[in-house]
Amino acid sequence: MKFYNTLSRQKEEFVPLAPPCVGMYTCGPTVYNFAHIGNLRAFTFEDLLRRYLEYKGYDVQHVMNITDVEDKIIRTVRESGKTLREVTDFFTTEFFRDLDALNIKRAHVTPRATETIPDIIKLIEALIARKHAYVADDSSVYYSIQSFPEYGKLSHRKLDEQRAGARVKQDEYAKEQMADFALWKTWNEADGPVKWDSPWGPGRPGWHIECSAMSIKHLGASFDLHCGGEDLVFPHHEDEIAQSEAATGKPFVKYWLHNAHLLVEGKKMSKSAGNFFTLRDLLAKGWTGREIRYALLSCHYRDPLNFTFDGLQGARSALQRMDEFLLKLQETAALETSDELADLTSQFDAALDDDLNISAALGALFEFIREANKRMLDPLEATNVLATWRHFDAVLGFGIPVKSDVPVEVQGLVEERQAARKAKNFKQSDEIRDQLAKQGWVIEDTPKGPRAKRG
Ligand SMILES: [Zn+2]
Repeated sequence: MKFYNTLSRQKEEFVPLAPPCVGMYTCGPTVYNFAHIGNLRAFTFEDLLRRYLEYKGYDVQHVMNITDVEDKIIRTVRESGKTLREVTDFFTTEFFRDLDALNIKRAHVTPRATETIPDIIKLIEALIARKHAYVADDSSVYYSIQSFPEYGKLSHRKLDEQRAGARVKQDEYAKEQMADFALWKTWNEADGPVKWDSPWGPGRPGWHIECSAMSIKHLGASFDLHCGGEDLVFPHHEDEIAQSEAATGKPFVKYWLHNAHLLVEGKKMSKSAGNFFTLRDLLAKGWTGREIRYALLSCHYRDPLNFTFDGLQGARSALQRMDEFLLKLQETAALETSDELADLTSQFDAALDDDLNISAALGALFEFIREANKRMLDPLEATNVLATWRHFDAVLGFGIPVKSDVPVEVQGLVEERQAARKAKNFKQSDEIRDQLAKQGWVIEDTPKGPRAKRG
């Protein structure tokens, strides 16, 4: 199994530090707003990665932080007049609701930055003691990037000697601003009531040190996987490496995996362009979490994803095709494990082993559906296919449809129609059929009786 490692810029064989355990850290949300679909693409990719590792038998320990103190949150607190906790609790709950709607597995540990302040302070003290950080005139603490010669190794940038001693205080900054960055920010009036005591006076942590402290606390000084969107490579992850390795003297993360960005209808998503979507926006338009999951997941994580409504329609059709096949299997279910099925499993695994090649994995599944639909599967074969499909679905997370997916009232009408037909009351049975058609359901007569499906 190979993954593309941002650190080495090549696909590398995945060999965890202490198999079968895998330590995985994914940068969580900054809880000042609803997550948008660009954010959710990253969490969906990480979910595929984790599920596939579990499918391969690894024992994954997944940690995802909740960034609940950061520049944008402070601004929201100031502008809304609410407390920090009111703002962050609300958006944290909404975030988890989004993950559930997309069938994304929750991390085993989801630490909040504000609950990690003592660990953050200890880490900053270690950096000062090792001469990797210094206290500035205003009592803020900065990381000295010149003190860490490997600075830039993740984003593949060289330390710029010209900028020696330059400082940047905000949590987010551009590549051109590469400079000493803030670990601890001295309190000022704009921070309002948001502050904690520290050896350097009241203040709050910088964003980057939060992730170093939380990952080391829950996964140790060295662990296997760290993921996030490509926008986090610089400065966030570059700074995490500098902080963590300088403080512990050990290599921080073995494999760095980053997903590419997301466009909407070919354009950068922005509120002003009117193409900015949260999950709730799409659910309100009638798309399901499952369809959105498919649309986000079916594009390879390192390719830019062009999110379109045509694409969502395509996701809906693909899932319908999958569902029809699976329902048919369930009706047929009861050959020996066929060679074909073993082939399908090896194609599925080989595709995902290759840096999570999801298009090839889905392609193999749909090719199988096409071939299987051409002939009648016998009951034993259908049973075997279904059992295998359940393993695939542990990775894909689209779910296996069950008959009860049909609403009770629709099922009731199907049964009424069947009764009318048995009584040879064809006028009534046709009326019921038309009524169902108006609601978007068609009736398919199968050897096991009639079945409603979306028309
Ligand atoms: Zn982070």
